Amino acid sequence: MARTTTTTGPAGIARTLRESFAGPVHLPGDAAYDEARSGWNLRIDHRPLTVAEATGPDDVRAAVVAAREHALPFAVQATGHGTLVPADGGLLLTTRRMAEVRVDPYRRVARVGPGARWSEVIAAAALYGLAPLSGTPSVGVTGYTLGGGTGWLSRRHGYAADGLLRADLVTAEGEHVTADADHHADLFWALRGGGGNFGAVTALEVRLHAVGRVYAGVSLYDAGRAAETLARYRDWADGEPDELNTAVMLMRMPDAPAVPEPVRGRPVLAVRVFHLGGYEEAEPRLRPLLEAAGTPLLDGFRAMTFAEAGVTIAGPTAPPMAVRQHIDLFRDLPGAVLEALPDAAFGGSPGPAVEVRHWGGAMARPAPDAGPVGHRDVPFSVIATAPYGAGGTGHGDADERSRVDASVDGLAGRLRPYATGGTFLNFLTDPARTRTAYTPEDHARLSRIKRTWDPDDVFRPGHHIPPE
Ligand SMILES: Cc1cc2nc3c(=O)[nH]c(=O)nc-3n(C[C@H](O)[C@H](O)[C@H](O)COP(=O)(O)OP(=O)(O)OC[C@H]3O[C@@H](n4cnc5c(N)ncnc54)[C@H](O)[C@@H]3O)c2cc1C
Repeated sequence: MARTTTTTGPAGIARTLRESFAGPVHLPGDAAYDEARSGWNLRIDHRPLTVAEATGPDDVRAAVVAAREHALPFAVQATGHGTLVPADGGLLLTTRRMAEVRVDPYRRVARVGPGARWSEVIAAAALYGLAPLSGTPSVGVTGYTLGGGTGWLSRRHGYAADGLLRADLVTAEGEHVTADADHHADLFWALRGGGGNFGAVTALEVRLHAVGRVYAGVSLYDAGRAAETLARYRDWADGEPDELNTAVMLMRMPDAPAVPEPVRGRPVLAVRVFHLGGYEEAEPRLRPLLEAAGTPLLDGFRAMTFAEAGVTIAGPTAPPMAVRQHIDLFRDLPGAVLEALPDAAFGGSPGPAVEVRHWGGAMARPAPDAGPVGHRDVPFSVIATAPYGAGGTGHGDADERSRVDASVDGLAGRLRPYATGGTFLNFLTDPARTRTAYTPEDHARLSRIKRTWDPDDVFRPGHHIPPE
């Protein structure tokens, strides 16, 4: 597309969009502007020149074309869970009005609009006894899948990106293109883990899996046995079957009336379990781990549906928040790492919640043509998450933000000597580390594909891959 630049400014861009864009367009000062630009991540308080709410693929195309015509920075937002850089002074395209979900139970495929959340796909698929490769249900399907996507079925069926069958998108040239195994194979490869660098997605088709009742939930234990339990988890996880997905978390429970009395305001160890199968199979497999944790303060494991499991394990839907998060990956969890985790979670105030999660299984057995998702064979991640302000619902004051940052940075510093240096893109909130989500070869290949499809770098998401 030849780049022609027209008068920019709110009025100019609004005029262009009014001619070609069917959905609502909001300018600074409009009543709906603040609501339209907002997303889950409260750390990003962006001030786009224009917010355009797409209602269909032609709107997405119109927005890409308008952004180029006016030489404006362009950004896409579905839910804002993964928005990492502000779209200040640019055109922010939101997709939440494009949230349609259609399930084909015979092909076991869901066709999903770019604004859909996993909860919507889970509900639609459940009618047929099927389930997607989802994670936290409130997260958007598109950003999650483009970034790899790790959820409770991943050890059995791989990353969400491995289950991507087709993507419809608008390219930097303003063309509608379909990428799948038979069409634009390079682009299809890049979309399965390369993030939002290659186009604006207008629909995805994702594989569904037959899932019956599962045994799942979260049990809470006294934190006094955290060190032994983490050590047991490390050793036990090696023999974990693909049907099991587990995580161990250390956190301080809020001192709030909504929190059950036995754990209110206490430091706890949480074991999160998802098992494809019933109690009879799960119990002996889990016993060695749970014995190390001791008697639960709250026992949350039971048989349930896949949909119930997603909600039960994730907990109440998190409202928009400002949080500081840090991820590291580990081949092993030496004693120095296991000591650092309770120190960080319980030692200071406020300490981050720290999650150790075991991966592997099908994630480590990619198909020969799998996308660029990196670090598939790394067995453990550690993710530290600390809210700013009261429960993360505000930014807190500068002193509090410094204390939160110091606690997370302190932990990161202690972990660094033992970590692989790699990351999973979806949990990476520091855009400067984007390269660390890939092998050097895959990052170089992504840059080449970027040069082919977006040489002018129109799509510059937080996890940016520049054209070679
Ligand atoms: C509370 C919480 C729980 C989470 N749980 C999990 C989990 O269980 N497993 C996991 O893997 N990750 C998880 N994540 C990380 C999450 O997958 C990423 O933040 C992801 O980017 C969110 O996608 P989104 O579309 O909801 O967010 P958005 O902020 O709307 O989008 C994030 C990015 O995705 C890209 N994008 C979105 N839509 C499009 C589009 N139509 N075209 C092109 N690019 C697009 C853009 O680059 C955009 O900046 C979680 C995050 C949070 C905050």
